[in-house]
Amino acid sequence: MSWGEHMQSKIRVAIVGGGIGGLAAAVALLKRGIDVSVFEQARKLGEVGAGVFVYPNSLRQLERLGLGAALGAVGARVGAGSEYYRMDGSVVGPVLTTDSTGWSGMYGMHRADLLQVLADAIAPDRIHTDHQCTGFSQDATSAHLEFGNGRSVEADVVIAADGIHSTLQKYVVQQQPPEYSGFRAYRGLVPRERLPHWRKEAHQVWMGDNKHFMVFPVRRGELLNYVGFVPMQRETVESWSAIGDRDELAASFSGWDPRVEELLSKVESCFWWGLFDRKPLDRWVHGRLALLGDAAHAMLPHLGQGANQAVEDGIALAALLQGRGREEPITDVLQAYESLRRPRTDLIQAEARKNGLRYDSRYADLAQRDREIANSAAFRKTLYDYDVEQAVRSHLMHQ
Ligand SMILES: Cc1cc2nc3c(=O)[nH]c(=O)nc-3n(C[C@H](O)[C@H](O)[C@H](O)COP(=O)(O)OP(=O)(O)OC[C@H]3O[C@@H](n4cnc5c(N)ncnc54)[C@H](O)[C@@H]3O)c2cc1C
Repeated sequence: MSWGEHMQSKIRVAIVGGGIGGLAAAVALLKRGIDVSVFEQARKLGEVGAGVFVYPNSLRQLERLGLGAALGAVGARVGAGSEYYRMDGSVVGPVLTTDSTGWSGMYGMHRADLLQVLADAIAPDRIHTDHQCTGFSQDATSAHLEFGNGRSVEADVVIAADGIHSTLQKYVVQQQPPEYSGFRAYRGLVPRERLPHWRKEAHQVWMGDNKHFMVFPVRRGELLNYVGFVPMQRETVESWSAIGDRDELAASFSGWDPRVEELLSKVESCFWWGLFDRKPLDRWVHGRLALLGDAAHAMLPHLGQGANQAVEDGIALAALLQGRGREEPITDVLQAYESLRRPRTDLIQAEARKNGLRYDSRYADLAQRDREIANSAAFRKTLYDYDVEQAVRSHLMHQ
């Protein structure tokens, strides 16, 4: 495959996986003048999925990439009326939706909208769909990728953004299967016009009885995204597109706050998703290959940070790779990426697990749970205030 004669002196980055992490990394690398191509196994970029949050820690980066207006056009602002409740609807406290400066840089987004905004910022000839990566090798001068369609590609750096079931992870570290959390998430969308009185900007979380339920707006507030987290011994597939059972979902939350029951009465169909994560991996980098996003640090969704951390990873890599030539020791740059990112994602992986216990009310003393929920605002501030670009700058200054 030709990369173009004019690019021969620049490093060539190949990204495997055109999900949120892979596309965000591509936009960040292109913005810094780095030659990049994305290889995605699907025939088309993802249309499936439901809602994800874009939090201040990644929105500030995406805005710097020039995507603020596009995100604003399809995202739903999240802020006023955001609250935690017990299962009967009594209020536990507010959900923090701002960083320390009071900036409410938070959108509820349909995953397809977020992917589209990212894809629109990348020239179409840089995104190669129908390319399932099947093999990787490297030597002193370059890395090589093999694809199921018979093609092969040479690059200086390979970023494995191929998700929780990463094919490339085994070339970096001994592969360990993702850990099933024992929970299934039912998720889907309800048109807001079917619940016109629903709070417009609110992220609402109901907690109790070893389950939790949340609702937030997406797509300019035209759709309400709901997620019901329910214990399930039987392992459920990890997928954006497995069709769920709406009656089972409604039965799981029967007797909860009438607002939850009302919303569920409007549900026509839903997806379900088995919740998996991994303990921190021993390594993210081997030679010219670096893991990113869920391939590096799959986490439970109980802080809503999986995609946001994948965005931060891409920004960090782009900032560290900027201006590097093909003759430079690329491994050192990738090692710097791992050292910079790991402490933060290790912590968030662990905190997401803890937050799940709170949300699912797996506490003997619920007053203690409520205190921890109130105190969690301080941790969320540190999450949202973090500026990965600045972290890279200070890392480079202290080298
Ligand atoms: C219920 C639930 C709610 C969530 N809510 C949030 C939220 O609010 N906020 C948030 O930040 N995160 C959330 N997440 C997590 C978030 O969805 C993931 O962390 C995020 O999508 C990871 O992005 P990624 O690019 O690493 O992986 P993915 O988005 O999974 O993308 C991987 C891509 O790689 C492709 N691929 C895989 N293998 C190959 C191969 N061999 N060759 C080529 N391509 C390949 C796949 O087709 C896919 O397109 C949630 C997760 C769950 C389960």
